[in-house]
Amino acid sequence: MVHGYYTKLIKTQKIDALSCPHCNSNYNMQYETYCKVHHIMFIPFVAGKKTSSIGCSKCGSHYKPAAFAQYTQAALDFTKQTKKRWYHFSGLVLLLVFVAAGATLMFMGNRENKKRMADNFANLKAGCVIYYSKAKDINTSMLVSRVVADTVFVHENKRSTNRNAYYIDDSDNYYKEETYFLKSQLKQWLEDKKITDVSEPQTYAE
Ligand SMILES: [Zn+2]
Repeated sequence: MVHGYYTKLIKTQKIDALSCPHCNSNYNMQYETYCKVHHIMFIPFVAGKKTSSIGCSKCGSHYKPAAFAQYTQAALDFTKQTKKRWYHFSGLVLLLVFVAAGATLMFMGNRENKKRMADNFANLKAGCVIYYSKAKDINTSMLVSRVVADTVFVHENKRSTNRNAYYIDDSDNYYKEETYFLKSQLKQWLEDKKITDVSEPQTYAE
C-alpha cells in the first residue's frame, strides 16, 4: 500500500501505586502516549492524532484512561504534554525541501533564459530566429536576414502553431521575400512578452 498509517507508542511514564488488573503485577503500570503516523511508501510523512492509554509493560494489556478514575486526568495530561516526534514528519520535510529546490531551479532557469534572450536580442544579426506569438495559441517565428541601423529585415514564417514555435522553425517554412520591423517595435514586443525567445544565429541543414 502506498499510503497508510500506523500507531506508535512514543512515550511512557511509570505509575507506582497501581497494579495490573490482568496479571496483578505491581510497578509495571504506565501512562502511555500513542501517535498515529501517516506514511507514504513507508516514509513517515506526518504525525497525526495522539491518544492516551494506561497499560502494563509486563503483560502488554492496555486500558482506556477512563478505566482508572483516579488516574484519568493525569493520563490525559501526560499525553497532552508529550511532544510528537519530529522524524514522523520526515516525508513532509523532504517534500518541502524538494518543492523549494524545484522552485529555485525553475526560477534560476527562467532568469538565465531571460538573460540569454536579452543578450541575443541586443546582438541581433543575420540567422537569428525570433519566436513570437501573434495571438493566444498562435505562435510563429521569423528569420532575421540582416540588420541595418534600426531596421530589422526578416523572412516571416508561412506557418503558425498552437504548440511551441520551435516546431515550425524549418528553413522551408520561411517566405523568400523580406519584410522589416523597427528594432524599437521588436523591443516593445520583447517587453510585452509577445516575443517568447530569440535564438543565436543558426544555420539550417539543406
Ligand atoms: Zn499486566
